Amino acid sequence: MVVTRFAPSPTGALHIGGARTALFNWLYARGRGGKFLLRIEDTDKARSTDENRQAILDGLGWLGLDWDGEPISQAARAERHAEVAHELLARGRAFKCFSTQNEIEAFREQAKAEGRSTLFRSPWRDVPESQHPADTPYVVRIKVPQPSSWTIEDEVQGSVTWAGDQIDDLVLLRSDGSPVYMLAVVVDDHDMGVTHVIRGDDHLANAFRQAVIYDAMGWEAPVMAHIPLIFGPDGKKLSKRHGATGAAEYRALGYPAAGMRNYLARLGWSHGDAEFFTDAEARAWFDLKGIGKSPARFDFKKLENLCGQHIAAADDAALLHELEGYLDATGALPLTEAQRDGLSRAMYCLKERAKTFPELIEKAHFVLTERPVAPDEKAARQLDDVSRGILTELTPHLRDGSWTRDDLEAKVAAFAEAKGTKLGKLAGPLRAALAGRAVSPSVFDMMLVLGRQETLARLDDLSA
Ligand code: GLU
Repeated sequence: MVVTRFAPSPTGALHIGGARTALFNWLYARGRGGKFLLRIEDTDKARSTDENRQAILDGLGWLGLDWDGEPISQAARAERHAEVAHELLARGRAFKCFSTQNEIEAFREQAKAEGRSTLFRSPWRDVPESQHPADTPYVVRIKVPQPSSWTIEDEVQGSVTWAGDQIDDLVLLRSDGSPVYMLAVVVDDHDMGVTHVIRGDDHLANAFRQAVIYDAMGWEAPVMAHIPLIFGPDGKKLSKRHGATGAAEYRALGYPAAGMRNYLARLGWSHGDAEFFTDAEARAWFDLKGIGKSPARFDFKKLENLCGQHIAAADDAALLHELEGYLDATGALPLTEAQRDGLSRAMYCLKERAKTFPELIEKAHFVLTERPVAPDEKAARQLDDVSRGILTELTPHLRDGSWTRDDLEAKVAAFAEAKGTKLGKLAGPLRAALAGRAVSPSVFDMMLVLGRQETLARLDDLSA
């Protein structure tokens, strides 16, 4: 069975790059009936916070990236990590190093002066236990076999080879006995049964150091896929300069989760020329072969475009539910029953051409507001005395007859013709009277959603 994982460090909130990594792992597992696990890499106690941990869980929850089982805390597994370091010692694949910080620095300086590699090679590497000093602090280091050659058959980067002398005898256990991150990753991935590691290519160098540990333990390493980082539109690493970089910021900007997922899936991965796709399609299509080798560029326009398509395609009730979640998360007041009901009836026309929830809410003003409708500045300009007069004349024509789009369109068109004016000329004032805004669905959609009684009441208010 395929087992993937997302392993964020809670030293910051969920970044858009992390969200994409999580999504790729989630898609890969979910498309194959596998498991997607979450491991919080909280070994850096000074920089890891509960707040960041929660922000990561919230971000994943918002994006609908559900994980199997409980999140695993890496820090809580320190004893197990140390146990493996001791086993490596017992196997002769690790050694105790008594070199002091000063000695290590002296080694590096000399190596530099002589133009040699500055990777530290400890004089204790092959010193037998019987010659170890007593009561002296030491660290445990991995012993990278020399000479050796390490090849990673990466699913994205292809076959990458490093010579053993390019890999340091890295510290596994610090002098206080605490395990280092690099060891923890390997032990956790092994113990969690992870079969595929999909992560940023900034971890490729780490993969070689990890490969040495796998080999020393006689464990099979997972399949690796190191994905290129995300760049901004200008080809530089994505940063605050380009715009929002945190998942929470996108949520606050009101992008729908489905659109965000679709966009993030396309960020560095492709399936033919498919741009817009559903979750089910993404799960069925996602593979490692479709991941590009060069960095993807973040394209805000494309994100908005896809979000607009997802809003338009969404089920009305599901969209309302997500909209309420958005309002809740942004601290907006809860909706009244009437507002909820209005939104629910209007959703079919609100979701056309809205790319974000704020845009949708702007269009929804006509069902969120109450009589008498207070026009904003733009709408007020549409409601001069002449326009008010025309609307007052139109109102009686709407009192009887059926309340269908065809009938309403025919009536308003006939009225416009009789007045020798264009339908378009009437629409502005009518929109202003019904919505109090210059932005709204079409006037006929508003009339249908509001119903006869409320429509007439709003028009009658003009002459009250
Ligand atoms: N904790 C690492 C990070 O946030 C991920 C390590 C990994 O995926 O192996 O960059």
